Amino acid sequence: MNTISTVLLKPGEADRVLAGHPWIYHGSLLRLTQPAVDGDLVQVKDHRQRLLGVGFYNSKSKINVRMIAPDRVEVDRSFFSERIRAALDLRQRYMPGASSFRVVNSESDQLSGLIVDKYEDVLVVQTSALGMDRRKADIIVALREIFSPRAIVERNEVASRKFEGLPDASGVVFGDAPGSIQVKLNGLSFETDLIAGHKTGLYLDQQTNYRLVSEFVPKLKNAQVLDCFSFLGGFGLHAAKAGAANVHLLDQSADAIEAGKRNAKANGVEAKCSFENVNVFDWLKAQTTAKPNEKVLPRFDLIVLDPPSFTRNRAAVPDALRGYKEIHIRALKLLKPGGVLATFCCSHHVTTELFQDVILAAAYDARKLLRRVATYGQSPDHPVIPAIPETEYLKGFAFEIVR
Ligand code: SAH
Repeated sequence: MNTISTVLLKPGEADRVLAGHPWIYHGSLLRLTQPAVDGDLVQVKDHRQRLLGVGFYNSKSKINVRMIAPDRVEVDRSFFSERIRAALDLRQRYMPGASSFRVVNSESDQLSGLIVDKYEDVLVVQTSALGMDRRKADIIVALREIFSPRAIVERNEVASRKFEGLPDASGVVFGDAPGSIQVKLNGLSFETDLIAGHKTGLYLDQQTNYRLVSEFVPKLKNAQVLDCFSFLGGFGLHAAKAGAANVHLLDQSADAIEAGKRNAKANGVEAKCSFENVNVFDWLKAQTTAKPNEKVLPRFDLIVLDPPSFTRNRAAVPDALRGYKEIHIRALKLLKPGGVLATFCCSHHVTTELFQDVILAAAYDARKLLRRVATYGQSPDHPVIPAIPETEYLKGFAFEIVR
């Protein structure tokens, strides 16, 4: 341990680290006491030589150090085993009964640069930082010990790897190719192909919200449901299972729509589900554009809006907000009195307040009065650490139409 290099921080740069934020940018560094190899463990001290902990060094990344512990620890197989077990314990406490969930969510679990998802008996690993990537072998052994999985798959095509100097890498790292698997979420079945699928399987961060939103369905009686940006059908199929009379699902990806149909069948709700492979913006516009002397007929009891983030960076926020506002105006026009709008925003750059402001502006334009009946966040397997604002991104609301 004594031979590792020490990174000294400039005065004033230690506070964030002491507060628990793991990222140290290049500009915060005063100097290194001896050269460090990218990917090495380094110890970090403030300018008065007080120890702040240890982290992974990478001169190629904007984030020069990713803190891993607030004290001097060995980062070996048993370290990973301990951290992963602690992360698993958290999921078991907050999502008892779930068989598919995110086991490790990077900064949320003090493992910056590591994501592990559990899809039944298959694990998917993503290492987006060099230090973590170097230790993949130890991580995989720890995962095998804890989960005894049938297979472990690596899905390393994330853009952020480029900034760490890492190449893309994908494939089976343990066991046999898992093929297409049936993932259970709240007792419903979703087919996913972890290797060929264009995403790492499903959007696990909505698992709790699928259940919460579907709880409106029995209250609405013979509910007519619209699921916009449906992907594999998460919200729509939960609503169908909860007793909706009809569910209409919209997505612009033909693959997603086909998968949604297969999922509807697998859950025995295909008779009440209809699918359209369309652009939601165009579809909503067509449904809410009335000729002179015609009125738009509200016909849905529950509408779900769960669009992609639209904001790769802060500069894209104004355009994204215009888009959010437009779909909200149109969705509100299609909701019957007493109907419910469940709406989500997964952009870290759009705060909860800003998101609600956009919805209120849309309600004003549509001349609707709204009652907020629920607020949502990401499922507990994507823990929010307020000291690390980047860990919070998903927010949502449910509004009832008062009039
Ligand atoms: N609600 C889904 C996740 C939605 S992700 C779930 O819980 O699993 C966003 C989805 O929106 C993707 O499936 C993508 O294909 C689709 N999409 C993106 N832009 C779209 C658009 N303009 N119109 C329709 N679908 C769109």
